[in-house]
Amino acid sequence: MTSLPGAPHLAYREDNLFLENLRLSDLAHRYGTPLFVYSKAAMLTALAAYQQGFAGRNAQICYAMKANSSLAVLQVFAQAGCGFDIVSGGELERVLAAGGNSANIIFSGVGKTRTEMRQALNAGIGCFNVESQAELLVLNEVAVSMGRQARISIRVNPNVDPKTHPYISTGLKGNKFGVAHEQTLATYQMAASLPGLKVVGIDCHIGSQITDETPYLDAMDRVLDLVEAIESAGIPIDHIDFGGGLGINYNGDQPPAADDLWAKLLARLDARGYGQRKLMIEPGRSLVGNAGVCLTEVLYLKPGEQKNFCIVDAAMNDLPRPAMYQAFHAMVPVTASHAPTTTYDVVGPVCESGDWLGRDRALAVQAGDLLAVLSAGAYCMSMASNYNTRGRAAEVLVDGAAAHLIRERETAALQMQGERLVN
Ligand SMILES: *Cc1c(COP(=O)(O)O)cnc(C)c1O
Repeated sequence: MTSLPGAPHLAYREDNLFLENLRLSDLAHRYGTPLFVYSKAAMLTALAAYQQGFAGRNAQICYAMKANSSLAVLQVFAQAGCGFDIVSGGELERVLAAGGNSANIIFSGVGKTRTEMRQALNAGIGCFNVESQAELLVLNEVAVSMGRQARISIRVNPNVDPKTHPYISTGLKGNKFGVAHEQTLATYQMAASLPGLKVVGIDCHIGSQITDETPYLDAMDRVLDLVEAIESAGIPIDHIDFGGGLGINYNGDQPPAADDLWAKLLARLDARGYGQRKLMIEPGRSLVGNAGVCLTEVLYLKPGEQKNFCIVDAAMNDLPRPAMYQAFHAMVPVTASHAPTTTYDVVGPVCESGDWLGRDRALAVQAGDLLAVLSAGAYCMSMASNYNTRGRAAEVLVDGAAAHLIRERETAALQMQGERLVN
């Protein structure tokens, strides 16, 4: 039981699963299911690995909040000194509501609207990570019309070799993200000539759930080559942003620890003479993924000729990753059982065959038992929907022996509040 993703904050004591000092069955009974529960200590421990990795450096960690944008989660990271990587005007409003500092916000994404650009300029964000020449022109126009200058970085696509790293999905030619390596210098020259823009950095983000250091080292070399070329053309680059993407343990995955990864990357930066440059990173999943679990109740067991189904009260609207990417989440009983197991497909109540949470899982369960879906802190609640008019789950933040309800369970009335009948 010691290999639970999320350990050491998640552990059995006797037969009861605890997150920090709280028994998860107690939380399920108190707040109902499905219920997301996050450990504040696990988030801060994950962050500390990056902070240790960057000790003594000029570095800013910008939490990529699309991984989990709940206000109290943002508050934890804001209070710990993080900036934020946002991808929409809505995310900007969340950061400001959670007490984040707008000067430490960077705005990523291929499709920023003029409205979002104005909103971000008014808030005084630190940097726009621009993804195309067309976007540069529009941002310039918006900034000039407001009498301002937008601070920009250009997201470059390092085209890291797909043969050796097939799982990297955003840093390749053929992805919609970033500016191609060959066009980068010309794009910087264009940016430098536009009065509404101020070049401050360069950035890349090569993909997600990366479990190997090699693609990071390759991408770093490609980006540093570009920095050399851009600065030789007379355009200074204040900061270098290496994006996010570090993986977590879902199913025995063994990504490098953030501090070990950065020891290697910083050694490479030092060797190339960029060790004192301001650095930024944009981790998402690796800060929150294994800090959270989703508690769900077994509603029915449905034996079949080909498959046995374990029908639970959480579904694809709560935990979309299996349906979207065939992703794996470990599932364990909230109260350990010593009975013999049966193999089940664990499915939700939504009317779609794609509504499954786990396949071929060996479980000893009965109706009424509680399961914990692990590694549910990232890309679960932030992707949750109301499909089948299911209210989004409640969320609890655990801090030692204290439980804070950070999001109420969504009612049907809340779901309908913006709708109108025609009369
Ligand atoms: C999603 C995203 C991240 C975070 O990725 P993780 O895999 O969650 O660390 C960072 N930067 C950008 C631009 C992103 O789109």
